[in-house]
Amino acid sequence: MNGILETGISKVHNVNHYSIGEGSISELPLELSRLRKKSNGKALYLVDEFFESNMEKLGDLGFIDEDFIIYIQTKEEPTTQYVNDIYQTLIEEFPGEPCVVVGIGGGITMDCAKAISNLYTNGGKAEDYQGWDLLSKPGVYKIGIPTISGTGAEATRTCVMTNKANGLKLGMNSDYSVFDRVIMDPKLSSTVPRNQFFYTGMDAYIHCIESINGLHKNHIGRAFARETINLCEEVFLSEDMMSDENRIKLMTASYLGGCSIATSYVGLIHPFSAGLSVVLDIHHCEANCIVMRGMKEFYPKEFDVFWQMAHKQNIQIPSGITKSLNNHQFDQLYDSMIIHEKPLFNALGDKFKELLTRGKVKEIYELM
Ligand code: NAD
Ligand code: ZN
Repeated sequence: MNGILETGISKVHNVNHYSIGEGSISELPLELSRLRKKSNGKALYLVDEFFESNMEKLGDLGFIDEDFIIYIQTKEEPTTQYVNDIYQTLIEEFPGEPCVVVGIGGGITMDCAKAISNLYTNGGKAEDYQGWDLLSKPGVYKIGIPTISGTGAEATRTCVMTNKANGLKLGMNSDYSVFDRVIMDPKLSSTVPRNQFFYTGMDAYIHCIESINGLHKNHIGRAFARETINLCEEVFLSEDMMSDENRIKLMTASYLGGCSIATSYVGLIHPFSAGLSVVLDIHHCEANCIVMRGMKEFYPKEFDVFWQMAHKQNIQIPSGITKSLNNHQFDQLYDSMIIHEKPLFNALGDKFKELLTRGKVKEIYELM
């Protein structure tokens, strides 16, 4: 546990251009008119379904008649089938390649925007690119506009999707999955429900406590992680996590957290959380928070801070969710957790399988 390992990630591609600040979404029409001059001029917008009845909250998006909007459902996290279905709809109803794909929403919507942008130029099906560096061409120019903060999807080189046919939850990990442009306008996250604001915000905190406590070190990644943790603690230990000042701080933390995780690995919390998502269909960020119930032994300091933050913001984290599970379901939880070898190794070293026996994993899940 004492060794310092290189992550092996040496060349990092970040977002080309970003803006941050209240009202920065007003830069979009100008950016679009620049892009429209380059090719056929049509823009594709993928927008979180929350805004379908709240479009006025986004202001002027520079929409013209030739453009196309698809509202992205967020009840279920993206499946490869869902992404393929969107792409098929586009082929039928919006022929030709747009000059830009704009993703406006949370991690689900931004990930769909990345995947669709990649499919336009690479062809095939979403599942063909689940893995590392399988895309051969840059996607259509893509702009990410987060409306909730924490996952860091606006900064990372992946877009997470589940292939229901084989149970594989994996993104298109590629430099081509990085947004060309990101616009971070904290005004947009003011309407997020409080519980969701906390769950998603905690994804940034959790990514960084896992990576900073891991065996693999990357100097830049650690610096991003330290500042992400500081900002999250400032936000969630303050009186009102959703104040104007805190929403811009959390948007910053989310972006930095995404940059951090691009250079390192997560640890124990994400594999346990993946088990809850795969077996019990619990959304990623909420599942992470539930997993924190079982993490005292592994992350004692951060465990205490996490529960202080939840209490301070009066957020009830679900409990008792594994109470009535049978042995078969505990086995499924174990199987979908233990396959995440890289993060488990990062957290516990090469003896992780000896430490995380089926019995031990069941005991941990029983705390949730
Ligand atoms: P989300 O997209 O799951 O949305 C959560 C909820 O918040 C939805 O109901 C949505 O409609 C709502 N919402 C979003 N913005 C809102 C607003 N401004 N006002 C009101 N409601 C709003 O949010 P998330 O937690 O950011 O994303 C989770 C997804 O991100 C998962 O699918 C996960 O796998 C993925 N993820 C991706 C990466 C990556 O690097 N690509 C990293 C971590 C997680
Ligand atoms: Zn996460």
